Amino acid sequence: MSNYVVPATPTVSLPVVGSDARYPVRRVYCVGRNYAAHAQEMGFSGREPPFFFLKPADAVVPAPAGEAIEIDYPPLTKDLHHEIELVVAIGEGGRQIRAADALRHVYGYAVGLDMTRRDLQADMKKQGRPWCIGKAFDQSAPVGAITPAKDAGDIAHATIALEVNGQPRQRSDISQLIWSIGEVIEHLSNAWTLAPGDLIMTGTPEGVAAVGRGDRLHGTVDGLPSIDVRIR
Ligand code: MN
Repeated sequence: MSNYVVPATPTVSLPVVGSDARYPVRRVYCVGRNYAAHAQEMGFSGREPPFFFLKPADAVVPAPAGEAIEIDYPPLTKDLHHEIELVVAIGEGGRQIRAADALRHVYGYAVGLDMTRRDLQADMKKQGRPWCIGKAFDQSAPVGAITPAKDAGDIAHATIALEVNGQPRQRSDISQLIWSIGEVIEHLSNAWTLAPGDLIMTGTPEGVAAVGRGDRLHGTVDGLPSIDVRIR
């Protein structure tokens, strides 16, 4: 038994479709503005190199298939936004991975939400400060069960969508990514050494908007288990 002066943090893990074993989370990388129509709604041209931010692993809240989970409305914000995203789960690490080889490094895919305190993020942007307080807060990354890549179908052309209280909010297609899954892995692995357990939230399409206490979010990517999240 290890000898620590304070309790060690347990590893956050996600269920895997078709397996009793789980996927242990190491890091959560996120891609900013990776759908042109979302970049435009945020006031940008939709044409820029990919950029990245991170969430802590313990911001991930597992959302098992067929089960509604709850997250708390976070402190400090008056403008909590939903961002529905395809999540890529790395199975084999590496650095300087080429886009053409990148899918070999993917274990599987899941549906995730990059919850965002938009008002705090906007304030940090204005001041040229880091986004952490807007993006990397507790419970900011509900993520569904991981489907192994071989079982996920044609994920590169899957529909991605989010409903809030049964009303459509976001709807697009993974083919609309500015930077493809392979290109994202290439760029990321030039900057960091990727490892098994790394999740990549690949960006959100247009239609981001606010949610409040009591709202029910239903997120889908065709071929993957959906996620159901209620704001508490
Ligand atoms: Mn996002």
